[in-house]
Amino acid sequence: MNRVWRKWGTILAATLFSFCRTGPQPQNHGLRVVATTGMLADLVQNLGGQGVEVEALMPSGADPHLYKPTQNDVARLRNADLIVFNGLHLEGKMIEALEKLARFKKVVAVGDSLPRKFLRPTQAGEFDPHIWFDPKIWAEAAKVAARAMHRCNGDSGVFERAKAYQNELEKLDAELRAALDSVEVRILVTAHDAFGYFGAAYGFEVVGLQGLSTSTEAGLRDVARLVDFIVERKIKAVFVESSVPPRTIEAVATGCRQKGWKVRIGGTLYSDALGPKGTQAEKYLGMMRYNVRTIVAALK
Ligand SMILES: [Zn+2]
Repeated sequence: MNRVWRKWGTILAATLFSFCRTGPQPQNHGLRVVATTGMLADLVQNLGGQGVEVEALMPSGADPHLYKPTQNDVARLRNADLIVFNGLHLEGKMIEALEKLARFKKVVAVGDSLPRKFLRPTQAGEFDPHIWFDPKIWAEAAKVAARAMHRCNGDSGVFERAKAYQNELEKLDAELRAALDSVEVRILVTAHDAFGYFGAAYGFEVVGLQGLSTSTEAGLRDVARLVDFIVERKIKAVFVESSVPPRTIEAVATGCRQKGWKVRIGGTLYSDALGPKGTQAEKYLGMMRYNVRTIVAALK
């Protein structure tokens, strides 16, 4: 898979280069961008000025590891001037569709385009795709997206907007760090391994019931192992994730109670998708604040 992915990265880089550097293209409409996840759509929205239309392909709450594009999705992608996706194998069920589109569309895989020094290697020899969970790395992702947008419409204002958004991300980072100060025992137990970058940034030991992808279900042995870990370390609370069914984490909590340790479900964290409209987590900055508030309230 790794070899295939590397090849895929090369194709993408070549495609973006060939499509977006071949001179100005007459555009009667603004730059139409389709991003796979809500986090990426929000990023592009912040970078795009007037005349950039952005939509997220995946609806709120969708699990990007499992998301399969519908025919309508493929039509939306075909109509885009630029397709922005996370890469690093996050959109595991979309690879074929994206590969086909990359033959004739402008595409950028933000995660694959980041310098390797920012990425967390995994035991399987790949990289953790959940790059949005460290605002400093997300600021690097903003640079990648800004360059791709600039290559498509030549609007250099995108770099100023990227700088302004990077400042917002820097402030967010300081704010989260201060809020997390009150948490002494820094162990974050969640449904899957989405919070590795968060843990590295804010000094948390992160334990996911499922691995980096949700495509393999947790088994009874995984649940038993996690129950033992929580009981032994006397962890106060575990967290459900918005894009993963809660039953496995609930099974862990039940298992702990059966062993005499009353662990709480500390709330729902937004992991691989933004919250729906009207929640405080419908944009990236709000999602990060919401998660940290939830973690602090449950673990302090
Ligand atoms: Zn994930």
